[in-house]
Amino acid sequence: TYVVTENCIKCKYTDCVEVCPVDCFYEGKNMLVINPDECIDCGVCVPECPAEAIFPDNDPAATEHWLNVNQKYSEVWPNI
Ligand code: SF4
Repeated sequence: TYVVTENCIKCKYTDCVEVCPVDCFYEGKNMLVINPDECIDCGVCVPECPAEAIFPDNDPAATEHWLNVNQKYSEVWPNI
C-alpha cells in the first residue's frame, strides 16, 4: 500500500484524489489518508502530490505511526 504522511497536514490540494483509479482516499479535518485494503499500489498519486506526502509502505518515511493513521482513519473518515 501507499501511505499519506505528515506533509499532508493542512495541505489543501486534492490532486491525488483526482488520479486514484480505485478512489481509496479518505478525508478528515486536517489531512487525507489512503485505505490500505483498497490501494492497488499503482503509484500514480505520488507525483501528483504537491506536498510530497505520499510514500510506499517500504519507504523509511512510511513509519509505523503513519501506517496506523492511514489504517485507522480510513475506517472512520468519509471517502473523497
Ligand atoms: Fe490510489 Fe494508486 Fe495512490 Fe494507491 S497508489 S492511493 S491506488 S493512486
